[in-house]
Amino acid sequence: MEVKERTGVKYIYEFSEGSAKMRDLLGGKGANLAEMWRIGLPVPPGFIITTEGCREYQREGSKWLDSIWPDVVEAMRRLEKATGKTFGGGDNPLLVSVRSGAPVSMPGMMDTILNLGLNDETVKALAIASGDERFAYDSYRRFIQMFSNVVLGISSERFESILSDAKKKLSLQYDNQIPASAWKDIISAFKEVVKEETGNPFPMDPWVQLKQAIEAVFKSWNTKRAITYRRINNISDDLGTAVNVVTMVFGNLGDDCGTGVCFTRDPSTGEKGLYGEFLTNAQGEDVVAGIRTPQPISDLKKVMPEIYDELLKVADLLERHYKDMQDIEFTVEKGKLYILQTRNGKRTAKASVKIAADMAEEGLIDERTAVSRVTPYQVEQLLHPQVDQDADLKELAKGLPASPGAAVGKVVFEADEAEELGEAGEAVILVRPETTPDDIHGLYRAQGILTSRGGMTSHAAVVARGMGKPCVAGCESIVIDLEKEQFVAGDVVVKKGDVITIDGTRGLVFLGHAPLVQPSFDEDFKKLLDMADKCAKLEVWANADTPEDARRAREFGAKGIGLCRTEHMFMQPERLPIMQEMVVARTREERVKALDKLEVMQKEDFVGIFEAMDGLPVTIRLLDPPLHEFLPKKADLLSRLEELKKEGKGDSEEAREILSVLARVDALHEANPMLGFRGCRLGIVYPEIYEMQVRAIFEAACDVIEKGKVVKAKVMMPLVGTEEEMRRLKELTDKVADEIMKKRKKEFSYEVGSMVEVPRAAVASDEVAKHAEFFSFGTNDLTQTTFGYSRDDAEGKFLAEYIRLGVLPDNPFHTLDRKGVGRLMAIAVEEAKKVREDIELGICGEHGGDPMSIAFCHSIGLDYVSCSPFRVPVARLSAAHAALNLLK
Ligand code: ADP
Ligand code: MG
Ligand code: MG
Repeated sequence: MEVKERTGVKYIYEFSEGSAKMRDLLGGKGANLAEMWRIGLPVPPGFIITTEGCREYQREGSKWLDSIWPDVVEAMRRLEKATGKTFGGGDNPLLVSVRSGAPVSMPGMMDTILNLGLNDETVKALAIASGDERFAYDSYRRFIQMFSNVVLGISSERFESILSDAKKKLSLQYDNQIPASAWKDIISAFKEVVKEETGNPFPMDPWVQLKQAIEAVFKSWNTKRAITYRRINNISDDLGTAVNVVTMVFGNLGDDCGTGVCFTRDPSTGEKGLYGEFLTNAQGEDVVAGIRTPQPISDLKKVMPEIYDELLKVADLLERHYKDMQDIEFTVEKGKLYILQTRNGKRTAKASVKIAADMAEEGLIDERTAVSRVTPYQVEQLLHPQVDQDADLKELAKGLPASPGAAVGKVVFEADEAEELGEAGEAVILVRPETTPDDIHGLYRAQGILTSRGGMTSHAAVVARGMGKPCVAGCESIVIDLEKEQFVAGDVVVKKGDVITIDGTRGLVFLGHAPLVQPSFDEDFKKLLDMADKCAKLEVWANADTPEDARRAREFGAKGIGLCRTEHMFMQPERLPIMQEMVVARTREERVKALDKLEVMQKEDFVGIFEAMDGLPVTIRLLDPPLHEFLPKKADLLSRLEELKKEGKGDSEEAREILSVLARVDALHEANPMLGFRGCRLGIVYPEIYEMQVRAIFEAACDVIEKGKVVKAKVMMPLVGTEEEMRRLKELTDKVADEIMKKRKKEFSYEVGSMVEVPRAAVASDEVAKHAEFFSFGTNDLTQTTFGYSRDDAEGKFLAEYIRLGVLPDNPFHTLDRKGVGRLMAIAVEEAKKVREDIELGICGEHGGDPMSIAFCHSIGLDYVSCSPFRVPVARLSAAHAALNLLK
């Protein structure tokens, strides 16, 4: 009586009874074997014991297996009938492989057992039936070796050492040169090992072999290795694994035989065409085991031309059938091709992009499917040069993979030096215990950053990611000696000027120039991202302060500039003194004088940006930081004053000037500058500053329009919190615009909007929106003001610990805090739309480049995200994935 009749559950499926859809029940390997059988491919006959059986076995143990054993025997009888061979006896013995296969791929699970069914008797029959004694005994010893290792748990080294001793004695290099007589001796020695290790003889009964092998597959589901793998990869423990029992076919029966693995497209480049390797006269794992060097698959064309053609057809069929690149295992037995496995092939990020783009173009998959096949993380990898992962390199030290990509350069320890050498065109890596905002100029000029302290949210890490530069942070195994200008890693001393390579993708440091693979924003990548844009609801804009950034942003496909920060323009060395003049001004007249000079420069910048963006929207944020940030440091002033006094020049003009600046520094001093006199508060108290900026913007717009180009200027007010602030600033902007239109006798359009970066603006957004034509969520400040954290202090002091303790799930400055900050954004959107239905909504905080945060922006209906130019491709794909519901 069948188990099914007894229990209502069917535990055994022949290949002809399954399909690819039954992956959960039959495992990936089994489901695909069944599918290939179904579509008529040459698969050797076999059957599958289901994953449900595995779960049953975990509950009931061998008792369960005993209860279904009659069905296993039944299934074996059917294999005998199908092949005309007999299991465990007769003239033509049936041999099988026993293979595990879970619903999700779990590399490193149980090894397959080949040639099961051999014993001292059947091996003789196999020798006669095949006419090849050497082959028969070689197969037998392989079986003993695999079974003993996998089922009986005996280390394969014991067998390997017997084998290599024998080869030495016979002066032979390869296993397949060993004659039958020698194999017989080796087999005796193998059996001795089994007896010694287990106390029992090697099982001669094929049915016992089969039962133990099946049990071993089920048991392998709960080995430590398997459990750990599932934990790491978030795979459920109760999926279970299926067991595949497959009739053996032999690739080691002579030179018209062979075995191999092939991909339907190159897994590292994505190039279309058969790619892989094979070995003539070999079995199963020989190809990967490295016993002999396999030949490239193209050679198969010469050795077995018909087989090659057939394989090409199979590959094409499978690819069309599965609509994805396939990884295929095959064996040729006496001129006949068998397919033993197919699955979606693993591939590099680069191949992933090319394959998706090509398949969409070939019409094999639709564009949405193509887009869904590449992850934002893969795109991120593609944008940075990478250390060649195939290169055999010895690492110098290991830290945190803080910002992806590889950088090569000379070691320097000071930011000033990094800047100096960097400007001179040298590639340098800035190595510091940690970095601070004072090092920014050095970070800017370095190829990469290595710190011995600090985590993924440290200053170095955050800034590096923003700049798109590789960074290894928290590399505690290096000891930096700033005085001696060297660091020590293990017993290696690295001095200033020595070349190192850092791999920010993996967090590794190498001595010297490691081999790199260049990033590619190639045609395929562009095509795929264009498809992504069609799927996405959100547009992707960029944060760009200079014409150069603007051009880069456009190259990466940005549809506009969501944030152009004007203060960066003031920080440039030739402008800072004028800016300082403006800040120290005691009267409006003095201030206006300085502002006039700045206006000329600002206008030039805006002309450059408008031209670079050629018709795309450009959002310019007016001056934001507190004025004292532009002043010299108090300590520097005091020490200069001290010097002057020592020289007896305490009364000189310079000294008097310093005193006056000092007074101004004191006057501008704030207890808490982050919450102080900055942003639109400056623009309201000193309207001449914002008037100057707005004039520069509109004058630039007129200039560019006169050159026949289109300008979409958007003026954005920082730190707005109330309706009246916004009303005044809108009025100011309109007034200046009017003046310029009259003066230049030209009409131009523009928009005035507000950043939303303090909670009040979000909550009272219905009022602010009365005067703002667009909102842009400044989520860096909004996160600071919502949590009440100052970012620098938080990241430098307690945030890492908070995350470690689980007080916070993530760094809210990287991944948008949906519950708090996100809630405020949602309220702001809802309230604003009540008064201005078509208000344009975007985000320009760092979150605009983070996939999960982008998914949130999509969900609350923003129109665009704006991020650093380097992140634009990642954001474009993320926006598409959000729309396709792949990011939640
Ligand atoms: P893995 O999951 O590690 O790839 P497989 O079950 O696919 O393990 O098998 C390992 C090797 O043995 C592969 O090269 C496969 O092609 C080969 N193999 C498996 N079953 C058979 C069989 N019935 N006849 C010949 N070779 C087989
Ligand atoms: Mg395989
Ligand atoms: Mg801000």
